[in-house]
Amino acid sequence: MATKKAKTAIKGGVAEKPTCPDCGAEIRVVRYTGFGPKGLFWVCDKTCGYMLRTR
Ligand SMILES: [Zn+2]
Repeated sequence: MATKKAKTAIKGGVAEKPTCPDCGAEIRVVRYTGFGPKGLFWVCDKTCGYMLRTR
C-alpha cells in the first residue's frame, strides 16, 4: 500500500515581527490622530526616525 505524505498547508500566517530597516529594532503600529499626519504608521521602537504609512 502506498502512503503518500501530503503537504500540509500551514494554517495562519507566519507571525513574523516587522523590524526597522534602519536599526533592526522592532517596529510597531502607532495611530496618529489630531494634527499632523493621521492614520496608522509603522514606527521604530527605538525612535530612530523610521516611519512608514501602513496603507
Ligand atoms: Zn529604527
